[in-house]
Amino acid sequence: MAFRDVSKEALIGTLTLGGFFIAGYLFGRRRKAFRMSISKSHGKGQHNPLLQYVLRHSMREHPALANLRLRTLEHGENVMMVSCEQSQFMANLVRLIKSKKAIEIGVYTGYNTLSMALALPDDGVVVACDVNEKYVDMGKPFWKEAGVEKKIDLRIQPALDTLEELLAAGEAETFDFVFIDADKVNYEPYYEKSLQLIRKGGIIAIDNVLWGGRVLQPAADDLDTLAIDRLNKKLHRDARISLSMLTVGDGLTLAIKL
Ligand code: SAM
Ligand code: CA
Repeated sequence: MAFRDVSKEALIGTLTLGGFFIAGYLFGRRRKAFRMSISKSHGKGQHNPLLQYVLRHSMREHPALANLRLRTLEHGENVMMVSCEQSQFMANLVRLIKSKKAIEIGVYTGYNTLSMALALPDDGVVVACDVNEKYVDMGKPFWKEAGVEKKIDLRIQPALDTLEELLAAGEAETFDFVFIDADKVNYEPYYEKSLQLIRKGGIIAIDNVLWGGRVLQPAADDLDTLAIDRLNKKLHRDARISLSMLTVGDGLTLAIKL
């Protein structure tokens, strides 16, 4: 049967089925990439017996941190909260390098901000950057409960403005630790400003560097994934730092200023 003998309806039907097949295939691939994130304790990880073992045998969560975590879990967007085991790991890094000054870029309810504040000495400070006061208000009572609210310098405005202000105030090279965890499209400027603000030997921790596996195949219109992938590639070549990319949570890069 020649191509021109096929009825118009049969041709349209075949093309439609083909379209569904291709869309299904592509959607399946994207979902697969999305599922490739590593469990975290308040996500699917709660059904992971090995992760539960890790938590039972390593977590030393301050009671105010535990209360803040439980409060945040009642909030609809709690997937944004860092996992307790990752936060404890970063608090240990803060202690390890004897930090006094830290920055949190993207606070949400402030679980990690509180964790860093608890790890800093009495005269330490965390500059906490967020644009959403409602999120942060949820966490403030727990900062008070822990008795460390005076160590938290909250700035409600775009984080880039706060980083600019710190540089303009002459605070370049005075910070020890930065955690980048806000809007992904600004990851590169956050990194560049943070690199100016930290001292040699200071650490920039960058969260979500695997972005649920989407970095493997960024879609052309997925600006978040493209920004993360671009920064990952840039850091790999960046001679100003030494680095590790850890498969912790959704991927955590540690960049240490040389
Ligand atoms: N680090 C937090 C934690 O450990 O639980 C989670 C942060 S959450 C993933 C991202 C936060 O970035 C949100 O609270 C959001 O309001 C904030 N954010 C988004 N765009 C921002 C911007 N331009 N400047 C500052 N914060 C921003
Ligand atoms: Ca995050």
